[in-house]
Amino acid sequence: GPELYGDRKNSKGLDLTYEPHLEQIDTARNPFADTRFAAEPLIAGTPKGGKDVTVTNPANGTEVGKITWASAKDVQAALDAATRWDAAPDTRAEVLNRAADLYEEHFGIFFALLAREAGKTLPDCLGELREAVDFLRYYASRIPHLTRDARGLFTCISPWNFPLAIFTGQIAGALAAGNGVLAKPAEQTGIIAYEAVKLLHKAGVPREALQLLPGDGATVGAALTSDARIDGVAFTGSTETAQIIRHAMAQHMSPAAPLIAETGGLNAMIVDSTALPEQAVRDIVASSFQSAGQRCSALRCLYVQDDIADSLTEMLIGAMDELTPADPWHLSTDLGPVIDDEAYGGIRAYVDTARAEKRLVHELKVPDGGHFIAPTLIRVSGIHEMKREIFGPVLHVARYKAENLDAVINAINATGYGLTFGLHTRIDDRVQHVVDRIRAGNAYVNRNQIGAIVGSQPFGGEGLSGTGPKAGGPAYMDRFCKSGPAPMTG
Ligand code: GLU
Repeated sequence: GPELYGDRKNSKGLDLTYEPHLEQIDTARNPFADTRFAAEPLIAGTPKGGKDVTVTNPANGTEVGKITWASAKDVQAALDAATRWDAAPDTRAEVLNRAADLYEEHFGIFFALLAREAGKTLPDCLGELREAVDFLRYYASRIPHLTRDARGLFTCISPWNFPLAIFTGQIAGALAAGNGVLAKPAEQTGIIAYEAVKLLHKAGVPREALQLLPGDGATVGAALTSDARIDGVAFTGSTETAQIIRHAMAQHMSPAAPLIAETGGLNAMIVDSTALPEQAVRDIVASSFQSAGQRCSALRCLYVQDDIADSLTEMLIGAMDELTPADPWHLSTDLGPVIDDEAYGGIRAYVDTARAEKRLVHELKVPDGGHFIAPTLIRVSGIHEMKREIFGPVLHVARYKAENLDAVINAINATGYGLTFGLHTRIDDRVQHVVDRIRAGNAYVNRNQIGAIVGSQPFGGEGLSGTGPKAGGPAYMDRFCKSGPAPMTG
């Protein structure tokens, strides 16, 4: 009825420029500043448990807590016990809305964990909690629009870069449609996932319909993507892993089981000579360096028209120098660490090579210790030079001549990826020309290219960047439902 579905709004959140809200944040999260957390599998029976893993803070190496991974036996027990969520549509909507309220009530523990386990700055914590809450309420609001039955059981495999928002979004989409879920969180961020699932259970999602299986890809991920009892997989992560999952599904699961994947990108932005430089620079910095560049949507390759390239680059360097990389717990921090040793080592090696090749345009200083990578600007002749996504605060810059605009568009499309794209121009015809030709799931004009808003900017890619349907949009839940009427028999 209208009371349950009629008045959905996105979360209001908190205002980080408003002193009483900052005090509210301190009061709510400070009790969790030193907590040693403990997490384990949440399955319908009692978990046996696999190995215990220590989780450390990527900013300073201190211990956040311990997590017990699911054993192979736990995964099988969860598969045996799993059921779809049989509750009536209105009940599912009520429960998901209640979960959203609980998430907001418990924002303190989430803010603490997003900073300590995932290295998130305060603005990122705020954005992430809001997105998680918005996913819950948005998918609940879509329940009356469903025309088909749930498929059955879904495996949801989520990334560490949005350990609450994407984790929750996949689960909420599957549950809202009436499926049961087996969720594998990223290895790096299992504690946040554990706290989230406890609240989803408390809100009323039955334990058989939502089970949490922390662990690695080799044990948990592989088992959950190669079992004939699973009816579909929702995955966000690398393109390579999506290809491995598709292969496993093809060998072991029904041909009807969908893979809903949101994967990597090599995202570009074009800034022409009519762009407003101050606005472009602000949006370039946000797109490249917010979340330390650890977003699939982040800007990786900036094309600047040659007439303004020198002046814009100078302004960009000035703006980069204003950034404060530091422990994300503090409000003044703009940029936290990258997630772990492996990410740190890989990005460092890449930047070292660019430095040796004399392609570094600018590089900031960062604090010692912890996994801090300096915001870095690297010169390239074009996006074709970039062979893979560097998942950190590393921006590449190229210049182009006005008459080569179409060649630039072709080069961007030729990467095969197609997640986000940005354009800064004040010529309306050019907007149409470029946006008509560029292949990207989300194209943004005269603004930054990160932070898609649930319900108004559905998010997802094309080509190597994903399968669709877009998350946070009206089509998302259709893939979690049976695709057509049952064939006539007899
Ligand atoms: N939805 C996020 C954004 O618009 C990106 C998600 C991701 O990095 O996977 O910035």
